[in-house]
Amino acid sequence: MKALVKRTAGPGLELLDVPEPEPGSGEVLIRVARTGICGTDLHIRSWDASAQSMVTPPVVLGHEIAGHVEAIGPGVDSINVGDLVSVEGHIVCGRCRNCRAGRRQLCPNTKGVGVHRDGGFAELVVVPAGNVWRHRADLDIDVAAIFDPFGNAVHSALSFPVLGEDVLVTGAGPIGIMAALVVRHAGARHVVVTDVSEYRLELARKTGVTEAVNPMDKDLHVVMKDLGMKEGFDVGLEMSGAPAALSSMLDTMANGGRIALLGLPGSTTDAPFDWMKTITSMLTIKGIYGREMYETWYAMSVLVNAGLDISPVITHRFPYHQFEEAFDTAQSGKCGKVLLDWSEV
Ligand code: NAD
Ligand code: ZN
Repeated sequence: MKALVKRTAGPGLELLDVPEPEPGSGEVLIRVARTGICGTDLHIRSWDASAQSMVTPPVVLGHEIAGHVEAIGPGVDSINVGDLVSVEGHIVCGRCRNCRAGRRQLCPNTKGVGVHRDGGFAELVVVPAGNVWRHRADLDIDVAAIFDPFGNAVHSALSFPVLGEDVLVTGAGPIGIMAALVVRHAGARHVVVTDVSEYRLELARKTGVTEAVNPMDKDLHVVMKDLGMKEGFDVGLEMSGAPAALSSMLDTMANGGRIALLGLPGSTTDAPFDWMKTITSMLTIKGIYGREMYETWYAMSVLVNAGLDISPVITHRFPYHQFEEAFDTAQSGKCGKVLLDWSEV
């Protein structure tokens, strides 16, 4: 079968013919239809320091996967051949204290599909049955392919009560935009999204975010004043990884405000943290990694079935063999989610 492989320890990806995987005990074989390109995939393609610390080649990349179940291994009874599924890309150990307490997203032994084992930039992928999320058969398969980043957005957005609250989302990447859509859906009052890219701000507006501002053009205190806000934001969702964005967030939170941090800083040494402000404003800060297994997935399906439309976040689709162009588009930032289509192999 065709697969996008990080074959050697260096920059680049190769489209190769590799042996078809077979499902072992408790595993599921999925015929991949779509795979989303994530920032992690870009890091692994360019082979930067973060990629080198995570990946041991050769490995098939790709973890934002949607497809149909092709076969099931021995001992799998809850999944049927033909089911439309997405994949939870974090494989947990099942044995540590957190796993055994049902807090699987906190497992310290997590391994990544498409990072530590072969992933879904391929015609077929094998994952544990417990990592499969079944959809209703008529769900838009493109939407199924972005359930992984949608889950990051939902996990963050539903971390704190938002009904009637004023929410600041820094970073209008696909995840920030989806988080803004979720908090609006969940009844937030004002939802302000910031980005320094005009393309991304325009995409945010097109997808239904009402206040999308460039903090270089308009100070957040002015935005607050225009909206009639007096004391600051009640909830902050940091979705950029930019030190300046976190600074502006800490600066505009109301006393008792709550922040979910999802954006990964490129370097932790220049990341600011206003310790004094955090204490004196009595802020709550929660780190978010991945999705809750599987409460976030349950919430995602409920939101989509209730009519939340995240499909406008997908701006580009490429057949798998145009992967270089697809990765370049994702790298450019002039896009929302970029999908590879494996259905026409
Ligand atoms: P993305 O890179 O597409 O979007 C980030 C956005 O932040 C970009 O549009 C960028 O222009 C914007 N930005 C840069 N500087 C800014 C500033 N000063 N103020 C406001 N916005 C600014 O990323 P994404 O795919 O939407 O993911 C969002 C973040 O979450 C990334 O940092 C990513 O690495 C991280 N992430 C974390 C997890 C996790 O589990 N914690 C999972 C996936 C992604
Ligand atoms: Zn564990």
